[in-house]
Amino acid sequence: GEMIGILGGGQLGRMIALAAANLGYRCHVYAPEADSIAADVCAAFTQGEYDDEPALAAFAAQCAVVTYEFENVAATPLAAVTAHAPLHPPARALEVAQDRVNEKSFVEALGGRPAPWAKVDSMEDLRAAVASIGAPGILKTRRDGYDGKGQWRIVQASDAEAVELPGKPLIYEGFVTFDAEFSVILVRTEAGEVRFWDSAENVHKGGILDRSTVPASPVILAQVEEARALAAKVADALGYVGVLTLEFFATADGPVFNEMAPRVHNSGHWTIEGALTSQFENHVRAICGLPLGSTALAAKGVVMDNLIGDDAHDWPAILSDPANHLHLYGKAAVRPGRKMGHVTRLVL
Ligand code: ATP
Ligand code: MG
Ligand code: MG
Repeated sequence: GEMIGILGGGQLGRMIALAAANLGYRCHVYAPEADSIAADVCAAFTQGEYDDEPALAAFAAQCAVVTYEFENVAATPLAAVTAHAPLHPPARALEVAQDRVNEKSFVEALGGRPAPWAKVDSMEDLRAAVASIGAPGILKTRRDGYDGKGQWRIVQASDAEAVELPGKPLIYEGFVTFDAEFSVILVRTEAGEVRFWDSAENVHKGGILDRSTVPASPVILAQVEEARALAAKVADALGYVGVLTLEFFATADGPVFNEMAPRVHNSGHWTIEGALTSQFENHVRAICGLPLGSTALAAKGVVMDNLIGDDAHDWPAILSDPANHLHLYGKAAVRPGRKMGHVTRLVL
C-alpha cells in the first residue's frame, strides 16, 4: 500500500502506525532518536533532526501523505515536507498549538476562555504579571512543555522572586479552581466533516495524565457542548484534517480552555477498545481521505490508566481480568515519570 510519513517516534506514532497497518498502509517514521518505538512497528525509519531540511525533503518525497505525533517541530523546516507531500494536520495548526501564547490568543479570538495570562520574558514581566493576575498561578515555558515539564507553581506573590528564569519565553497563568478536567477529541476530514468522541474525565498526578474515565461526571457533561462548539471552531478556522484535542477545566463558570494538541492524545487511548473506531484509525482515515468510522462508545463505560515509570508490573494479574486491555509501548529504559504503557478497562 501507500506510505504514510509520521514525524515523531513515540507511542502516539506507534499507535497511529498500528492502526494504519490494519488499513493496509505502510508507515515511515522520521525522528531524531535511534531507538524509536514507533519505528519498531513501521516499514521504514529515517533518523534525523527536525530542522534538517534536506533529510525532511527526502523523507517526504517517499510518502503519499505526512502527519505528526509530536508538535514541537518548527514551522520553517516543515516547508521541506510540504513541498513534497501533503501535511495533515496543516503546518498552521502546529504553529498555533506549539506556543502557549499563540494557542491562547487564537482561542480567545474565537470566543474561547483561557485562564488569565501574560507573557513573561524577564523578572520584571513576572512581577507585573503576578501583580495583575494574582497568585496562585503557574509559570510555564511557552514551547516544548509536556507532562507538566517546564512549569513553576507560584503559590504566593513572593514565590516569584525565587524563580530562576530559564532564559526561554514564558507565560504566567492564573491558577484555575476547577471541579474536574476533561478533553474534547474530534476528527475532521478535508471536506469539513467533524465527529467527536465522548469526552473523558482526566485526572493528572504530578502534571502527568494518570486516568481517563468515560462517561465523565455530570459537572463535565453539562459543559461538553460548549467546549465542543469551541473545538469545532478551532478545527474549522485551521482547515484542520485529522484528530485534534482541546483540554478544558470544568469550573463553576463553565469550561475554561487549558491547551490544545494538534494530534491524537493520551486521554483518547481508551478509544482503541472503548469506541467503535479509535482516534488512531480515524486519524488515518481522515489524512488518507477515507470515510470516517463511528466514534460511538463500544461499552457502557471505560477507564484508562497510564502505566508511569515502574508502575504496575504485575502483568499476569492485569491480563487475568478479561475486562482489561494491556498496552506496553516497548520502551527499553524505565524512567520516573515516563509513560511505559496503559491499561484500558471496559465496563460491559
Ligand atoms: P500535556 O502533557 O497535557 O501536554 P503540559 O505539560 O502541556 O501537559 P498543562 O496541560 O499545561 O501541561 O498542565 C498540566 C496539568 O497541570 C493540567 O492538566 C492541570 O491539572 C494543571 N494545570 C495546568 N495549568 C493550570 C492552571 N492554570 N490552573 C490549574 N491547574 C493547572
Ligand atoms: Mg501540553
Ligand atoms: Mg495538558
